[in-house]
Amino acid sequence: MKAFEATNYYIRQASKVMDLGEHAEKLLLMPEAEHNVSIPIELDNGEIAVFNGYRIQHNSARGPMKGGLRYHPTVDPDDVRSLASLMTWKTAVVNIPYGGAKGGITCDPKQLSQSEMERLTRKFVQRIHREIGPHRDIPAPDVNTNAQVMAWIMDEYSRINGYTPAIVTGKPLDLQGSEGREAATGRGVFFVTEEFLRDIGSSIQGATIAIQGFGNVGSYAALTAHQMGAKVVALSDAGGAIFCPGGLNIPELWEYAQARRSVAQYQAEGVSHIALNEVLTQEVDVLIPAALGGVFTRDNAHSIRAKVIIEAANAPTEPEADEVFAARGIPVIPDILANAGGVTVSYFEWTQNIQAFRWTEAEVNQRLKQVMADSYHVVKGLVKSKDLSWRTAAFVVALGRVARATVLRGV
Ligand code: NAD
Repeated sequence: MKAFEATNYYIRQASKVMDLGEHAEKLLLMPEAEHNVSIPIELDNGEIAVFNGYRIQHNSARGPMKGGLRYHPTVDPDDVRSLASLMTWKTAVVNIPYGGAKGGITCDPKQLSQSEMERLTRKFVQRIHREIGPHRDIPAPDVNTNAQVMAWIMDEYSRINGYTPAIVTGKPLDLQGSEGREAATGRGVFFVTEEFLRDIGSSIQGATIAIQGFGNVGSYAALTAHQMGAKVVALSDAGGAIFCPGGLNIPELWEYAQARRSVAQYQAEGVSHIALNEVLTQEVDVLIPAALGGVFTRDNAHSIRAKVIIEAANAPTEPEADEVFAARGIPVIPDILANAGGVTVSYFEWTQNIQAFRWTEAEVNQRLKQVMADSYHVVKGLVKSKDLSWRTAAFVVALGRVARATVLRGV
């Protein structure tokens, strides 16, 4: 099933529970606008290369649209459409005043130098600057884009429109970024995990964890898990995977990831190297996909042995796998709830930029924890009272908020 179709499948499930009707459903499924651009740049060797770039704006009923920008060879319009839609539901689940959008450039960042990345980013902004804006659509980091890329976006947009830090979030601290933004998604994942484990009479202390992906989200999720007393026993990145039954040395591995080294080269006592996908099939308390989408399929869903799956990545579970997990009684805390910490602190960053004011890291983290815990309990209320899956319950909360805003504003 294609990514956008899979997202719409989940929306339809919630819409059925809510009895929204065909017309309202149609309105909520389709993106408001799609911008496809070509991005020509001069490579370092003097040749001209042309890349495809996308910004898809899904829904603005609840506020300016918000969503990351992904640089990856697999980026295509269907993928971006699905991710843009997920942003609408994610901002609604955590009740922050945004809609949803997503962007991407089909490219392989590993093949690009830093200056080529900069030219690519600046040219993309030149192509789409009329479509984005601090009260229209605010990009943020996603796979293979980071604070430096956000700084280039801010600078290029500001060259055209005057100084506008609120045009993008996930910026470096020296350029009006927010304390706590970089760690926010991974940290938010663990605020939700903590609530869930407490609810089932368990605890994060000593819980065993497997994490797929060790980039921004995966590394901070692992670090937070470690700080909270959990044992990360399996970990992977695109280059390799490692396993240690006694728990991996996460602070050491975190330094490793900061130096852009793959865990494939990591050596330590008690650590064995396993096949990439074996991270997913470990017998653990908590399994956290934190890499790309489409990881759980009908082919591997039966071999998952975790007690709960917490979706730190966007769209890691295909609908067929979701049905297998439901049948097997494995709860899946969906992306639109579990990884909403990033967009929540992005919202804090945007708020600080608009007010030209700074919050402390402690203030950011405390507010993040509150938002994640409150949202978790609203969704849990529906899981319990209506006997819904976590995913359907989260979509019901989100669809309700977006539908009400749409009706109040008028179609
Ligand atoms: P990133 O580029 O920083 O890291 C991605 C990681 O996944 C890297 O460690 C990479 O090596 C690894 N990876 C890629 N293919 C893999 C494979 N086959 N097996 C194992 N590991 C693999 O990206 P990120 O920002 O950490 O995003 C990860 C996921 O989280 C994405 O789905 C993204 O959409 C989602 N997300 C990110 C944020 C954010 O704030 N960055 C917020 C919400 C959701």
